[in-house]
Amino acid sequence: MSGHLSVIGLGPGAPEQIPPQASVALAEADALYGYGPYLNRVPARPGQTRHASDNREEGVRAAAALRHAAQGGRVAIVSGGDPGVFAMAASVCEEIEAGPDEWRRFDVKIVPGITAMLAVAARAGAPLGHDFCAISLSDNLKPWELILKRLDAAAEAGFVTALYNPVSQARPWQLVTALMRIAERLPATTPVIYGRAVGRSEESIRVTTLAEATSIEADMATLVIVGSAETRVIAREGRETLVYTPRAAKVMA
Ligand code: SAH
Repeated sequence: MSGHLSVIGLGPGAPEQIPPQASVALAEADALYGYGPYLNRVPARPGQTRHASDNREEGVRAAAALRHAAQGGRVAIVSGGDPGVFAMAASVCEEIEAGPDEWRRFDVKIVPGITAMLAVAARAGAPLGHDFCAISLSDNLKPWELILKRLDAAAEAGFVTALYNPVSQARPWQLVTALMRIAERLPATTPVIYGRAVGRSEESIRVTTLAEATSIEADMATLVIVGSAETRVIAREGRETLVYTPRAAKVMA
């Protein structure tokens, strides 16, 4: 029997934000691999085995799933959000490239999901309405100097920037340092959005400015979107503000 590997994005947290294609792929799998809290979001199915692992063990988890599929298993690996955004799909590709030939001989399907950046943006308005980029502030897999270089380049080029992994337990200062760096290049009034646990019961969205942003707490469940010089906030009586970036760029960054 030929094996199969699906790499599935579960979206930001709400069950209705799991794409139907992902639900079908989950139902078809005989074995699920993933970080424990993500596996817990998948409805149980009798006969389906679960292989939970620690969040940091992405390469080990991908290799275990590939070995299982190479033995003929119908295997799925789950990620939060989209599996291709700072998540398992790239780990799986790395392991296939470095691994034995038999890991290239079965179907691998990457099933897209709603990434945190899109879920937070939708809750706040349309901050990603013009050019944007995404930067992970985690320096587990790249040097901090490179992160600073990319923050500078993004702010100078006029991109709206989504900051993934804003705070790590080992480095609680990363987000504040990053925001201060961006503030050297953008106006203090630039809108900043903090989206925490979007799509889950404890969800919160907060809109602030670059000058105020450094005093706001963030954790690993937070995504921060820093606007560009074009990004605007519409106040509405009795309603949440709408943050948006107009479709046309007028300011020369
Ligand atoms: N593959 C995931 C991202 C993994 S990196 C995706 O596409 O969304 C993990 C980071 O994503 C977190 O530190 C946080 O910055 C962000 N994130 C994930 N889920 C989130 C949610 N529900 N609300 C806000 N941010 C979230």
